[in-house]
Amino acid sequence: MRTLKNKNKNKINIVTLGCSKNTVDSEYLIAQLAGNSFEVVHNSSDRSAGTVIINTCGFIREAKEESINTILDFVHAKKAGIIDRLFVFGCLAERYITELRDEIPEVDSFFGVKNLKDIVKAIGGDFRDSLLGDRIITTPSHYAYIKISEGCNRHCSFCAIPLIRGKHISEPVEKLVEQARKSAAGGVRELIVVAQDSTYYGLDLYKKRRIADLLNRLSEVPGIEWIRLHYAYPASFPDDLIYAIRDNPKICKYLDIPFQHISDGVLGKMRRGITGKETYSFIERIRKEIPSLALRTTIMVGHPGETEKAFNELKQFVEDIRFERLGVFPYSAEEGTFSALNFKDSISNVRKMERADEIMSIQNRISGEMNSAKKHRRMKVIIDRIENGFVIGRSEHDSPEIDQEILIEKTGTDPCPGDFTEIEIIDTDDYDLYARISKPE
Ligand code: SF4
Repeated sequence: MRTLKNKNKNKINIVTLGCSKNTVDSEYLIAQLAGNSFEVVHNSSDRSAGTVIINTCGFIREAKEESINTILDFVHAKKAGIIDRLFVFGCLAERYITELRDEIPEVDSFFGVKNLKDIVKAIGGDFRDSLLGDRIITTPSHYAYIKISEGCNRHCSFCAIPLIRGKHISEPVEKLVEQARKSAAGGVRELIVVAQDSTYYGLDLYKKRRIADLLNRLSEVPGIEWIRLHYAYPASFPDDLIYAIRDNPKICKYLDIPFQHISDGVLGKMRRGITGKETYSFIERIRKEIPSLALRTTIMVGHPGETEKAFNELKQFVEDIRFERLGVFPYSAEEGTFSALNFKDSISNVRKMERADEIMSIQNRISGEMNSAKKHRRMKVIIDRIENGFVIGRSEHDSPEIDQEILIEKTGTDPCPGDFTEIEIIDTDDYDLYARISKPE
């Protein structure tokens, strides 16, 4: 029974789930809604907003469960009269719109990933062409994600993203440079480049890979000090990107390349277009060319074909390479994907989770050892925030939200968020570093 009627229909809470690419989509939507004089809050726990819009993720089972649970939480809030209107968009809605409409009729409307115009209209606003490309960033004002393309042309057999987001479409270089200019004018110092497959950038639009060229162009934008690249694909990796990272001081010595696996049997079934041997020599090469590189990867465990022998190869790979940063997730058979249609999902969820834990315990040790070796080192950091008596910073080897942080002692004359400063590491643990502001030598 609805007991309360929320009066604040003009206040909208946008709740973003999933990856940084979703964050960017929400930021475009916020710009449109703010341009229509709505008051917009993001991921707010304050329940005074009468309208809630959830931007969902549909990548793997855990992400889908989180999206459904979040929708159901707000359905309860709507039933209790705490909110008036509930809208859902993003990857989960794109994939399962018919089922969701049937199963959760309390949601006012569901929209796919490309329906910003319809969402704005449903809220009671007008989509403004004059605001196309405008975003209101939801991250701290000194860094911003920049989404350089939409969709993916790869055929990784486990992945539903191409089914949800469609073919790869690159944004023109000039538009991205303009976006970077606007961000820098608003105080952004670090750009975090994201895409489904960032190394494919340009092939559709310019008939050649232009990711290196793009990063170099972004680095020329006044005010931008750091650029970091996520989601590079290991096969057909462009040489000029290696040289751009090596030679351009504004491009962070950081690369996020999801390798997923190392066993040839699994890589073949995953349709990754690269063998285990090629993977090892590729990593050897980029580490040789860029000696100070921090390599981040993502590993998938439990894909069909991952025998105990294949899993042991994977563990050996993690031991051998000693990735600076690593994330792992268990395979889930996603409807419509090549893997789901062609292979039996025969490894139990319990075994998948055990394998994920085994990989992470190897990585915890490696990360702890690597951090210990950093004691007494000096490095440049960007300050993210002040929290719990510490100034919190990050090195060029760490991306916000997913990588480790540096907890810096306060002195009374501390740097502010967005400042760059030199620090000295004084203590370490597996996933964090402790430091003091470095005094000039
Ligand atoms: S590169 Fe592969 S895993 Fe990444 S989005 Fe494209 S198909 Fe999915």
